Amino acid sequence: MVLMVTHSEALMQRKQRPSGDISTVLASLRQVSRDFMSVREQRYGSFEFNGDSYDLPVFVFSGSSPRSSDSIRLGIFATIHGDEPEGAYSLASFFAELAQNPELAIGYEIRAYPLVNPTGFEDGTRHSRRGKDLNREFWLSSVEPEVISIEDELWRHHFDGLIALHSDDTSEGLYGFVQGPDLSKELLLPALAAAEQFLPRNEQRIIDGFPANRGLIQQGYKGVLAAPPQARHVPFDLVLETPQNAPVDLQVRANVAALKSILAEYRNLQSYAPNI
Ligand SMILES: [Zn+2]
Repeated sequence: MVLMVTHSEALMQRKQRPSGDISTVLASLRQVSRDFMSVREQRYGSFEFNGDSYDLPVFVFSGSSPRSSDSIRLGIFATIHGDEPEGAYSLASFFAELAQNPELAIGYEIRAYPLVNPTGFEDGTRHSRRGKDLNREFWLSSVEPEVISIEDELWRHHFDGLIALHSDDTSEGLYGFVQGPDLSKELLLPALAAAEQFLPRNEQRIIDGFPANRGLIQQGYKGVLAAPPQARHVPFDLVLETPQNAPVDLQVRANVAALKSILAEYRNLQSYAPNI
């Protein structure tokens, strides 16, 4: 007898990753927030699905600043696709490094969202348990609670910069997307160069269906996480993609190097052109 496997079952078998445990993925970040006063955990939302309730955690790093109203505000978002937790691991390592070397982040307030899609993470799937690709839902009147909660945060905090961390199992190397002002490109290129200490760059001319130049893509999908379309203050906006089949610790080190580069470069650019 021939064993029949339907197309969707085959797809499930290929894409399904081992299910994830939320407390395990957050453990390192929680340890950093216990060890260092400069990092604290908050909750930016919660929702229920079939009787299970989910808290949405954000970890806030405050670098010392002359006046807190002068802080540069960054939002970093990870695990929007539930099967890409490498970004969450990277945030733990990034915050541990900033907490131990506060001079790296003087003047910054960084809000890190490690688990934008907790049900997808638990299920090991790109989509949320409601079957949505959350990164195609932004600013399109979505009713998905995960998206509404992040949209609230994007309105409330008037970020100067947005960074989304993704990992791509179809890419052999690092690449990224930019949106928003030209400044985004000036930040992404050195960030990729810094990350290249650990992993190669994707040098293909077409990546993910988009024209690319040295790993930089200047187009994107409709509905990706981005600043509110009507916002007067337009932040820089980057997406960093690591090659997901590479060892996780190298993806983490590449992301941390890229993020540190962005902190240094942005501060540098601000000191030349404070109103950029
Ligand atoms: Zn992704």
